[in-house]
Amino acid sequence: MLAAVEQLAWGEASAAAAVALHTQVTSLVARHGRPAARERWLSRLSAGELIGCAQAAHGEEGVKARHADGGWVLHGSVPWVGNARPAGLLALRASADGGPLLCLVPLADDAVESQPPAATMGLRPLALRTVTLQGVRLSGDAVVAGPGEAQEPLRELARGAALLVAAVAAGIGQAALDHARDYADVREQFGHRLREFDGIRLKLADMAIRVAGARALRARAAAQPDAAAASVAKVAAAEAAMFASTQAVQVFGGYGYMREYPVEKLMRDAKAMSLLGGADDRHRGQIAEWLYAD
Ligand SMILES: Cc1cc2nc3c(=O)[nH]c(=O)nc-3n(C[C@H](O)[C@H](O)[C@H](O)COP(=O)(O)OP(=O)(O)OC[C@H]3O[C@@H](n4cnc5c(N)ncnc54)[C@H](O)[C@@H]3O)c2cc1C
Repeated sequence: MLAAVEQLAWGEASAAAAVALHTQVTSLVARHGRPAARERWLSRLSAGELIGCAQAAHGEEGVKARHADGGWVLHGSVPWVGNARPAGLLALRASADGGPLLCLVPLADDAVESQPPAATMGLRPLALRTVTLQGVRLSGDAVVAGPGEAQEPLRELARGAALLVAAVAAGIGQAALDHARDYADVREQFGHRLREFDGIRLKLADMAIRVAGARALRARAAAQPDAAAASVAKVAAAEAAMFASTQAVQVFGGYGYMREYPVEKLMRDAKAMSLLGGADDRHRGQIAEWLYAD
């Protein structure tokens, strides 16, 4: 799955992020959903009739949940939910007495309001919308994990998100490297192809080193349950994507700054990698905690 997301991101990072979010919610329902929730949503998610989106498992809870009539009532707002399509199913973390609640909210619910997509620097097709819940009523079946039991699925969601962002970022980095390598092969200046200049060769080599390093860290993190390893992979990949895309713009020279060439878009998309799935400094905090763990 991670390799497929990386390949998709090579061509269009928003498509890769959308597929990643959808897959994450589908697998959350399959693995942790109550039987009635699986019955109600899994086949529609698998068919793509219902589209998954998620609130970052890292942030503060903007939505409050109150127990009522054997179910829950939700009030609050979640900014910038990527892939929040009208036919969407939102995996949401809400705060409740006794701890966080992890639940599934159909965006078609009358008590849900989705804003038009925010104007963003990059990842525009991902369509980030603020979603507001005004007294959404959920039956117990829509709760994936109640207060006191949500820590583990939330941890799993956060780790999965970090690995998926690492995969999207590696795809952007690889695309930047490939475009820069190909351009340096054909562009001639001062009687030489760009690829013959040491400054260009070193840039290409540094891009290749960072992208390969990010991919290796992701493979290592995917093979172990440790959340800190996923954070390491996520931050390294976000930095590799930003580095490679910035260097690609430089290799293209003035053309790199122009919309008609592919690399300025990669640079705009790359910046989102240090925010999506939790800001990099939040991940650094978790890595530092892990360094001091017994
Ligand atoms: C393209 C894109 C897609 C997104 N998609 C989604 C989505 O699908 N679902 C969703 O729920 N959210 C989504 N988000 C929101 C994203 O998860 C948040 O923007 C991100 O977690 C950062 O939170 P914030 O914007 O509130 O920044 P803040 O938390 O206010 O952080 C601001 C700065 O302070 C730093 N900071 C904050 N806390 C700490 C700390 N404890 N230690 C050190 N530094 C800290 C941060 O690193 C950052 O540099 C998306 C954002 C973007 C840009």
